[in-house]
Amino acid sequence: MRKLLDYESTQLLGINIRYLWMSALSPTSRVEHVIRHGEVYTEEEIVDFYKSEGNDVDCKCSFSEVVCNENGNPKSTKLIEKLKAQKQEWFSKY
Ligand SMILES: [Zn+2]
Repeated sequence: MRKLLDYESTQLLGINIRYLWMSALSPTSRVEHVIRHGEVYTEEEIVDFYKSEGNDVDCKCSFSEVVCNENGNPKSTKLIEKLKAQKQEWFSKY
């Protein structure tokens, strides 16, 4: 997993950054990874996920920083809606 943005710096600037999870949505993607596609997580939640045995093996997921409000909800939801639709499509296929 690539290095995530320096969480402390964003806190100092008062910017609430979380990470948008994007699965590769390949036929071999694991359900535990695909289920996270289009969901937003804190850096700590992502690190915890990869601490579980085997979760990092052959993982093709990516992450993108998203600016969130003080409640941790993304300020823009258009891309998230698109990703969630892709996730529904994946679940209907596999
Ligand atoms: Zn993955």
